[in-house]
Amino acid sequence: MYTLCEKVQGLTPYAPLSGQYRIRLDANESYFTPDAMMMERFAKELARLDLNRYPDPYAVEACKAFAEFYGVPESSVTAGNGSDELIGIICGSLLQKGDKLLTFSPDFSMYQFYGEIYELETLALSKGDSLQLDVDEAIRFIQENGVSAVIFSNPCNPTSLGLSREKVRKLIRSTEALVVLDEAYMDFWDQSMLPETQQYDNLIVLKTCSKAIGMAAIRLGFAVAKPTLTLALRAVKSPYNVNSMTQLFGAQVLGCKEYLDWCCKALVKSREALQQGLEGLAARFPALEQVYPSCTNFVFVRCSAAKTIQTALAERSIAVRCFDGYLRITAGSSEENAAFLAALTEILVKEGKA
Ligand SMILES: *Cc1c(COP(=O)(O)O)cnc(C)c1O
Repeated sequence: MYTLCEKVQGLTPYAPLSGQYRIRLDANESYFTPDAMMMERFAKELARLDLNRYPDPYAVEACKAFAEFYGVPESSVTAGNGSDELIGIICGSLLQKGDKLLTFSPDFSMYQFYGEIYELETLALSKGDSLQLDVDEAIRFIQENGVSAVIFSNPCNPTSLGLSREKVRKLIRSTEALVVLDEAYMDFWDQSMLPETQQYDNLIVLKTCSKAIGMAAIRLGFAVAKPTLTLALRAVKSPYNVNSMTQLFGAQVLGCKEYLDWCCKALVKSREALQQGLEGLAARFPALEQVYPSCTNFVFVRCSAAKTIQTALAERSIAVRCFDGYLRITAGSSEENAAFLAALTEILVKEGKA
C-alpha cells in the first residue's frame, strides 16, 4: 500500500471561499476590471499569438513593462506564475532543507506553508498585541538563532499595517540573511524599497499584478533583486513558468501607467471611505473593538464576534475574510462598500439585542 510521506499526510487542498456571493470583499482584489479599450487590446494581441510555441522563458516583454512601470532595471526582474510561485521557488531553491526561515505572526500564510513543504525550519515570531513587526526584536532573533532567511509582507496582509522604509532598511543592513520583502500592497502606500534593490545583495522584493494592478486572474508576480540573486532565481525556476497569455496581458496592462495610477488612487479613496464607515460603526457598537489604520486596499478590525458576523454577512451574500478574532474587509466600489456597511449595521443592531 502506498503511504504519503509525513509532511503531506495532514494537508488538505487550499479552500478559498466557496459559493456565489453578490459582493466579494474577501480576497483583496481590485474592484476594477480592465475596461473595454484594454480588452480590445488584449484581443488584438491574442490573435497574433503562436499557441503552438512555448512561451518566452524569461517573459521579457512583461518584465520590461514592469521595469518601466516601477523604474527598476530590467536585469533585476524575474517573472513568476503569481508571486506565490516565487515564494515557493525561494523557499525550495534558494534555501536548503533544515535552514531556518523566519516569519511573523500574523502575516501572509503562504510563507509558513512553503517553508514547511520544503522542509525548512520555519520559525514564526509573534507580533504581540500591537500586531506591529518589532524590527529590533527581529534583528536580535535572527542573530541569536542563525536564521538563513526572513520573509514578511509590507504593508502587511492581514493586519493592513505598514513598516517605515527606515525600519526595513535597518533590518536589511543588520544581517547577512536573505530578506524577502513582499510588497504586494505597496502600491497603496509610499515606503517601497524597490528604488533601493540595487544597494543590497541580500534583498528580494516581491510584487504582484493581483492587487492594485487588478489582474489576479492572470497569475503574474515579479521578484526584484541584484544580479546574483536574479540569475539564481532565473536558473532554478521552471523554464516556462509564465504562460504566453499572461505575459501578453501583463505587458499590455503594465504599459498603461496613467490608467493604473488612476485605479490605484480610486482604490485608496474607497478604502478611506470604508475605513471611515467602520470607525463610525465602532464608535456606536463596542463589538467592533478596534479598527486598524490601513496602508492597503483593505481594513482590519479586531472583533471577538468575527465568525458570527462573517456568517451573518454571508447569509446576505457578502463575503469578507475572517481570522481568529478579526475581520478583514477589502475595499470595494462605493456601492459595494455602502451595501456592506448597511448589512453590518443591521447585524450589529441585531447582535446588540441578542
Ligand atoms: C495577495 C498577496 C500576494 C499575491 O500573490 P499572487 O500569487 O501574486 O496572486 C502575495 N503576497 C501577499 C502578502 C498577498 O496578500
